[in-house]
Formats: sequence, structure tokens, C-alpha cells
Amino acid sequence: MNEQRRAYWRLLDLAEDYLRFAERTAHDEPPTGTDLPSHSSTTTSSDFDYVVDDDAERETQPAVGHAIPAGADDGGERGARSRRLSMLEERVRVCTRCALHEGRFNAVPGVGVLDPLVMVIGEGPGADEDRRGLPFVGRAGQFLDKWLEAIGLSRSSNAYITNIVKCRPPENRDPRPAESDACMPYLREQIELVRPQAILTVGRIASGILIGTGAGIGSLRGRTYYYNGIPLVPTYHPSGVLRNPELKRPVWEDLKRLNAMLDRGSVG
Ligand code: SF4
Repeated sequence: MNEQRRAYWRLLDLAEDYLRFAERTAHDEPPTGTDLPSHSSTTTSSDFDYVVDDDAERETQPAVGHAIPAGADDGGERGARSRRLSMLEERVRVCTRCALHEGRFNAVPGVGVLDPLVMVIGEGPGADEDRRGLPFVGRAGQFLDKWLEAIGLSRSSNAYITNIVKCRPPENRDPRPAESDACMPYLREQIELVRPQAILTVGRIASGILIGTGAGIGSLRGRTYYYNGIPLVPTYHPSGVLRNPELKRPVWEDLKRLNAMLDRGSVG
């Protein structure tokens, strides 16, 4: 009987947890009948202080890159890593290793902090990201920010966000194997320099490449994997969840698994 009661209360806790998450993200469901293309965004406003708000500036200013958190020691070993990361970002911005450079407006190296709790990895920039030179800044990106916020993460304080390919594939198609192969050395170097505690891959492409499988995201998610010793949690892509809000529940389960493995004592 006691065991039944405990199970009952655990279920209530889980339900309450999930309802809070669903409420936070309630306004991000797509309008009925709208089929959003992957990476698409119709949102033009943003309350994120890391985004350049002025349209003219977006097209002429260099994109905001990574940052060491305010108050952190930027000298020594971390300073050296920060400088190497800045150089990597510069190399990405002028890269012509694959054909994706031909159609880009801006390459999108990544944004966030060194030594983050979590590195989020998607598949590639969309139209808004290409225009601004920043990852996940369209509607799906703002939705992703809410996911992160729900477990105490943000790109300005304790997360780093990037993609498998740094230049936008035309028509938002999946990156081709030759393109992701050409771009992967940048991501490997970013992971080495940024040193995340854990990795969250969003979507089939990023999850499959880092886990090393062609399996679908529905069968990959729900478990923890390791990439070079770093725990990796795969989940759905925010644009997929915008199209199908039923996926919020498994995403929330994945975020809770990710959250449970983080050592918050070691990162500000
Ligand atoms: S996608 Fe990657 S490899 Fe291809 S041009 Fe852009 S930065 Fe270079």
C-alpha cells in the first residue's frame, strides 16, 4: 500500500513538472494548419540581449561570437582557449571547404560561453541564422531558448550553441555527407576548446552524426550516449516540435535526464 502511495505521488510530481514545461512553451505551438519548413521563422522581434536588434546592423556588423562569462578569469589557460576559439570562428567565416559557402550570407560558427554546462548541437543554420550570423535565432531558436531556460540554461551564461554545418544548406535541405564531413573538424575543435559538461543534440542529423548511426531520432532518444567521454543526450529538433506539439513530452523527459547529470557546482 505504501509503495502504491509512493508511486502515485511520483506520478503526480511528474505530471506537475510536465505541465509547468508545457505552460512555459505553450505559446510556441504553430498556428493550426501551418506547415513550418525546418529552421523557418516568421518572428522578427527578440528579447535576447545577445542578438543585434537593428536590421541594418545585422547585415553589416560582425556576428556576436563566444564569450567568457562576466567576472571569469580571462587570462591563462582559459584565455588561450578563448583566443583559439575566436581564431576558429574567423576561419569558419571565410571557409570555402564545401559548396555551402557559395550560397551563404554569413557563416554561423556558434555562440555561448567557455566551459558550459551544455553544448547544444543542431544540423545547420536556417534563413534567419544565415542573415544574422548566429545560431538558433529564428522561431525554433527562441523555442529552444525556452527549453534551456526550463532547466536553468542560457547561451549567455552556461551554454554554447552550434551546428554540424556552419553554412546554410539551400532551401533548408539536410546537409549532404560531403558537407558535414568537410565541416566536422570545426565542430570537433569547438568541443575540444569549449569543453562542455554534456552535449544535447537536437534532431536526427546532428544526433545520428555524433552517435554514429543512421537511426531515426525517435529510436535514438531516451538514452544517454557518450561522445569522446562527454555524455550526450539526443532529442527532437525544436522545429519538429513546433510542427508536432505532441513531442513536447519526450523532449521534457530528455531535458530532465540532461539536467540530472549536470554538476552545477562547477559552473557559474
Ligand atoms: S559548411 Fe563548413 S566546411 Fe562548408 S563552407 Fe561552411 S564552414 Fe566551410
